[in-house]
Amino acid sequence: MNQIIKVVENNVETKGEKMKLEFGSYSHNEAFARVVVSAFMARLDPTVEELEDVKTAVSEAVTNAIIHGYKNTYGIVEIRGEIEENTIKISIHDDGVGIENIKKAMEPLYTGAKESERSGMGFSFMEAFMDEVEVLSKVGEGTTVVMKKTIGNRTV
Ligand code: ATP
Ligand code: MG
Repeated sequence: MNQIIKVVENNVETKGEKMKLEFGSYSHNEAFARVVVSAFMARLDPTVEELEDVKTAVSEAVTNAIIHGYKNTYGIVEIRGEIEENTIKISIHDDGVGIENIKKAMEPLYTGAKESERSGMGFSFMEAFMDEVEVLSKVGEGTTVVMKKTIGNRTV
């Protein structure tokens, strides 16, 4: 199987505070992406809940890239990570079909895949679990989801 998995930029110059991961749009790579992001954010010493929040958000965005962006055909999904102080920024990018109406796509319960069993809650989960979610997309060119979360804002 033509499988591309690359982890780059997590090197000496970036002090491990930046990373880029590229992988083929196979659904089994979604679990791999979650693990890489968990390892990347470990230095922020997240709680189990914070870790789960970020993993779930990544998982939703990666699934969208695979099933909606690439429509289950082959393409490269790219994840970039950046840590600045105690904030993690994760971008998930595909060169897929793009989104015509981003505002509508982000509405709770909206799904563009009516015939399947999708619930239209992916973006709502991303927004609930992360502090900020921004979607950049162009029809025919692809989609980038940029999410941020500050770790360690404990109230106790
Ligand atoms: P669920 O995530 O609950 O299984 P869903 O994927 O349809 O259902 P969302 O994740 O909220 O719901 O996405 C809403 C819609 O936005 C999708 O149905 C799809 O039409 C569009 N969309 C989301 N991500 C992409 C993407 N990367 N490329 C193209 N279209 C997208
Ligand atoms: Mg979804």
